[in-house]
Parts: sequence; C-alpha cells; structure tokens
Amino acid sequence: AKAHGRNTFRFYTREMNTQVADRLQLENRLRRALEQDELFLLFQPQYDIHSQALIGCEVLLRWQDPVEGLIMPGRFIPIAEDSGLIVPLGRWVMREACLQMARWQAQGLQLPKIAVNVSARQLARLDFTDEVRDALQESGLPGHCLEIEVTESTLMEDADLASRQLAILKAMGVRLSVDDFGTGYSSLAYLKRFAPDTIKIDRSFVCDLPGDSEDAAIVSAIIHLARALGMSTLAEGVETVEQRDFLRQLGCGGLQGYLLGKPQDASAIARQLGELVS
Ligand code: C2E
Ligand code: CA
Ligand code: CA
Ligand code: CA
Repeated sequence: AKAHGRNTFRFYTREMNTQVADRLQLENRLRRALEQDELFLLFQPQYDIHSQALIGCEVLLRWQDPVEGLIMPGRFIPIAEDSGLIVPLGRWVMREACLQMARWQAQGLQLPKIAVNVSARQLARLDFTDEVRDALQESGLPGHCLEIEVTESTLMEDADLASRQLAILKAMGVRLSVDDFGTGYSSLAYLKRFAPDTIKIDRSFVCDLPGDSEDAAIVSAIIHLARALGMSTLAEGVETVEQRDFLRQLGCGGLQGYLLGKPQDASAIARQLGELVS
C-alpha cells in the first residue's frame, strides 16, 4: 500500500510539473508575442434590438502564434492575469482599440462606441485611469466613445478602489458595462453603487431561451431591474431568431451574438458601416 501511495504521489507530482511548465512556457511566449506583434483585435457588433442600428463593437483579443496558430483568449487571458502580463497587454488593447475607433471615424463611419474588456488587475492599478486618458488623447476620441466591460467580481475585489477609479473614468465620459451579469456573486447593492450604463446578460442565461422557463424568469427579472434603475441591457451569445424575438418581447435593449455577427476584423466592420452609409 505504501509503494502504491508513493507511486500515486509521484504520478501527480509529474503531472503538476508538466502543467506548471506548460503555463510558464505559454507565459514566456505571450510576453514575446506582445513584443513581436502576434496579437490582434477582432470586433463583434452590438445592435439595438428595435432599430437594428449598430450601437457598438466589443473588442476581443486574439493571438496568432507562429507555431501553434490561433490561440483564443480563454487560454491565455487567465495566464496573463496570474502573471501580471495583463497590465501591458491590456494597455496595448486599450490603445489599439481607441486608434482603430479613430480610424473608422476618420473614414466617416458612424459607430457610437467600442467596448473594451478590463481585468481586475488592470482596474486595481492607480495609473489605469491615466492610461485610458492617454489612449483617448492620442486617438482624439471623446470619452463617450469608449465603454469598459468589467465583471461583477472585478468590482468586488476592491470595491472602494474600483469606485474611485470608475468615478474618474465617468468624469471623462467613459461608459461602464457590467459583463457576465448574474454569473458571479451578484449583489444588488453593487449595482446601485456602481450605476453601470449597461448590464450585459450572460450567454449562459440566453442559450436555452425561450424554452427554459427558469432562464426566462431570470432574464426577465434582470431586464425589469435594469429598466427600473435606468440602465440598458444587452444580451450576449444570441444565436437564434427565437432567442432574438423572445429577448425583444422581454424588453431587452441590445443584442450581440453569432446570429447578428461574429467577431470580425476592422475592415469587415468598416464594410458593414459603409453599406449602412450608402
Ligand atoms: P466575454 O467578455 O464574455 O466575451 C464574449 C465571448 O463570447 C467572446 O469569446 C465571443 O467571441 C463569444 N461569443 C460571442 N457571441 C457568441 C455566440 O453567439 N455564441 C457563442 N458560443 N459565443 C459567442 P472570446 O473572444 O473567446 O473571449 C473570451 C473571453 O476572453 C471574453 O469573454 C473575455 O472575458 C476575455 N477577453 C477577450 N479579449 C479580452 C481583452 O482584450 N482583455 C481582457 N481582459 N479579456 C479579454
Ligand atoms: Ca466582455
Ligand atoms: Ca460577457
Ligand atoms: Ca463570458
């Protein structure tokens, strides 16, 4: 039994070592990726549910690794967050996103805003607001053209600091959207305190609509709550016409999802906006 126990121990240790080594390797490659221009941005359109106008685009990061090919954020963002690399990475995203938005505007294309995902470790840095101000100034973009998407857990990690940071951003005109709403430790007190412009209804509540009566009740409650508090709602992960129609019935304000448009590159967004203009 002893020998068996030792073998088991050794097995787990080796497996853990491989995992740690994998992470470390990915972390080092990611650091290089940032320097060597292997990262790029995609943009997923967001639409007004009634007028069907394009109301914004969410900025989604991608990594084109020369060996492995396309690496999705689900794989590298957690590593970037743990290692602190998310700070320079997030700074790059913010700057690139604002510059792209300014390019679209210079082309005469009408897009109200871009939404950039911001991690807890970014928001917790005192110079984060300076970085946002710099990105806006460099691109010449007014603050209201930028929305930051943060999750509930990001807001709760250090709520006092988060509210000071968000107050500075709000004074710059930057909008706030609460991402993945309802999936974390949601607190209604935080909703009141942070007063976001938009609540993003998480895909997990959307995917089984309209059939799942519990999800329907949750989504309906979120929409009513948001409306009573003067906030807009946007449903993410909308994939079917049935979901869209049901969300419209419930009074949801905005839509994002594969049904309406996948994450795409800047020129595809420009083409779409160009068609709307002409
Ligand atoms: P998220 O913020 O919840 O972003 C929405 C995710 O859902 C995106 O995955 C998007 O491609 C995907 N999606 C959109 N519509 C649909 C749909 O109809 N069906 C399905 N099944 N999926 C849909 P993606 O691009 O893989 O990003 C994953 C997560 O990585 C994001 O989740 C976000 O948390 C994080 N992320 C991405 N870019 C950044 C970034 O620049 N900074 C930070 N901090 N996080 C990022
Ligand atoms: Ca998001
Ligand atoms: Ca989300
Ligand atoms: Ca999500």
